[in-house]
Amino acid sequence: MKVIIIGGVAAGMSAASKLKRLKEDTEIIVYEKGSDLSYGACGMPYFISDVIKEEASLIARTKDEFLKRGINVHTQHEVIKVDTDQKQLSIKDLENNTIIYDTYDKLIIATGASAIRLPVEGKTLKGIHTLKTLEDARSLKQRLQDETVQKIAVIGGGFIGLEVVESIVESGKKAILIEREPQLMPQYDADIMAPITTMLARAGVEIHLGETVKAYQGDETVSRIKTDKRTLSVDLVIEAIGVKPDTGFLEDSDIKRHDNGAVIVDKQLRTNLEDIYAAGDCATVYHRLKDSFTAYVPLGTHANKAGRIIAENIAGNPITFPGVIGSNHLKCLQYEIAKTGLSEKEAEALDLAFDTVMVKAANQAGYYPDAKPVHIKLTFERHTHRLLGCQMVGEKGVALRINIMATAIQAGMDAQTFSNLDLAYAPPFSPVWDPLQVATNQIK
Ligand SMILES: Cc1cc2nc3c(=O)[nH]c(=O)nc-3n(C[C@H](O)[C@H](O)[C@H](O)COP(=O)(O)OP(=O)(O)OC[C@H]3O[C@@H](n4cnc5c(N)ncnc54)[C@H](O)[C@@H]3O)c2cc1C
Repeated sequence: MKVIIIGGVAAGMSAASKLKRLKEDTEIIVYEKGSDLSYGACGMPYFISDVIKEEASLIARTKDEFLKRGINVHTQHEVIKVDTDQKQLSIKDLENNTIIYDTYDKLIIATGASAIRLPVEGKTLKGIHTLKTLEDARSLKQRLQDETVQKIAVIGGGFIGLEVVESIVESGKKAILIEREPQLMPQYDADIMAPITTMLARAGVEIHLGETVKAYQGDETVSRIKTDKRTLSVDLVIEAIGVKPDTGFLEDSDIKRHDNGAVIVDKQLRTNLEDIYAAGDCATVYHRLKDSFTAYVPLGTHANKAGRIIAENIAGNPITFPGVIGSNHLKCLQYEIAKTGLSEKEAEALDLAFDTVMVKAANQAGYYPDAKPVHIKLTFERHTHRLLGCQMVGEKGVALRINIMATAIQAGMDAQTFSNLDLAYAPPFSPVWDPLQVATNQIK
């Protein structure tokens, strides 16, 4: 059996490695349009801030290591067309500028996503960066180490925006954060994000919420940003306004895609066409709480799982991916930010009968040194008290605690059952009532 994988990072290479382990005799060919393979994109914010010094630390496996394992990897090869009738790909060899053709028995689309760019005047000026690929991270790291670069604007206050702001603040440079929505992290509810906005302002970040970038200005290099409210002077810009699936090469095919271009897959990660699978940032994912096959949640956590599940299915073990509930967490300076399940906004959009509670509780016993408050917001079904979502922010005890709630929500637990869970207690780690149980106790 010959399997072709398009895209050589999280979803693609986890599928390749797992399939090789499961079925040694499978011929596996990977086409990757870039030069880098199998790298941890999630570590890039810490690479640009120099917390991670060596680029090599981000690389899980090199091309040579894959070749030695019998996985035939071609970098600098961009798939430009898929003929699903003939099971044939057209591929552009970017080094030699030639077109080659290859055929498959099974195809895995793992082409990820690319950074959305602001379509504004001045967008081609130098000094406007994104952070999506390792190549982006290399050039950004170099620019951030330049002493003449002192004032850096970050456009977009989502995950990547906040992680990049942290790098800028820690490097002692000035961060200007511009977000179109009236709050940071628009995926979260505004009230739970308030402590983060306050903390960033105290850390010296100039925050402009509800403000839209209209143009970049400068001679050759960007030196000013014009928004709908003011003109800001800057030395560098980092755009972090989201990603769009890299699936343009499927335009002429019959492979079904969602409105945003993401390939639609079922629970076995199969597309609408036989023998073609898709996973990771280029595909939709089943959302358990929304009961939707067209959710777009571009995160590494399930890109890796999905790659392995495709490998199992191709190897003849029909297993399914149960779906996501939207769990995520991140660090921003001394704060941890975390969410699982549905926010109030999301529950509203789904027209659910729900209520919320919000509490502030200590992360550890109050008498133990350095206890910090944890802000928790729960969303739950009004009549059954089934837990639907949890958002948390705080300086300690947030990032990993969210996984307790993710487990409970995925198991369909209600508030009372959660309140009676036998969670561990010791003063350095939690109060006698865990903050999450303090929150579920509020649901009466
Ligand atoms: C800065 C940053 C921080 C992040 N932090 C986190 C985090 O903390 N937690 C988390 O869960 N997720 C995080 N993510 C998201 C996570 O990195 C992605 O979800 C994950 O990398 C997706 O993997 P993928 O294999 O689907 O796509 P990608 O990693 O994008 O890989 C796809 C590959 O396909 C190649 N390709 C595209 N088109 C073609 C073509 N036509 N032919 C050949 N090759 C092609 C691309 O060059 C690319 O190398 C972060 C992302 C970024 C950018």
